[in-house]
Amino acid sequence: MLHVTIWYEYTQESGYLRRDLVRPGISEEDFRNFEFYTAQASEKIHQVYPEGLMAPIRKALEADPQMQVTCATLYDPDFGLPEELLEHTDVLIWWAHISHDAVPDELVKRIVERIQKGMGFIALHSAHKSKPFMSVLGASGTLRWREGDFCRIWNTAPAHPIAEGIPEYFELEEEEMYGEVFDIPAPDEIVFMSWFSGGELLRSGCTWTRGYGKVFYFQPGHETSPSYHNPYILRIICNAVKWAAPAKWRNEMNCPNILQSPEMLREKGRKQP
Ligand code: ZN
Repeated sequence: MLHVTIWYEYTQESGYLRRDLVRPGISEEDFRNFEFYTAQASEKIHQVYPEGLMAPIRKALEADPQMQVTCATLYDPDFGLPEELLEHTDVLIWWAHISHDAVPDELVKRIVERIQKGMGFIALHSAHKSKPFMSVLGASGTLRWREGDFCRIWNTAPAHPIAEGIPEYFELEEEEMYGEVFDIPAPDEIVFMSWFSGGELLRSGCTWTRGYGKVFYFQPGHETSPSYHNPYILRIICNAVKWAAPAKWRNEMNCPNILQSPEMLREKGRKQP
């Protein structure tokens, strides 16, 4: 059984802003702008995703009897990720947008450590600016963006497990443009590249390994675009969860302390069968 946790910020969908869960110490003007933007977005999200933005992803994963899916939000106790849940998560999916700063650094540290020990991590869409994504990759994750665009997603690694069942390209009539330069470390593999009608390009599906863990970033999923109803998008996310499943866990994060002399170790080696 693969234990998958979908961590979802939920701020815009809720339509209600808690000052401390937007950004600690936010200015009054910024807070009012966020309130206006959130009210607008909330209505549209409910139109496009009547059961919630994460519902199609949850259902697609639950269709696989090998997956046990838990959904959590920033508004749940312990910011949605109490220690027991994180310690039982094999693959963590992360969607966040306007409350990145509300996720405590201590939790981010535990997430990064769990990835290094073997947990898979899948960052979706605006999670490019989330603390766990930036921390685990050691990069700012910045890129250029524009709302409401046409997008063609090219499959640039057809033999990769994440691209299984995906044609050479497919299109989304409405998705937010994210364009290069995307400030990320060079990916191990670029599984998808996206082209937008403004001519911009993005490395939109990228993989990395960090310690024993696998990381995947996938761009589609703007909250008011219907991308998570697209069967190819859902297939890619399901494929990515299987790909990111831990192959082996690392139990100890410290380096082993070798106290014996090289001579003793050589002698020990000779005695081994
Ligand atoms: Zn967006």
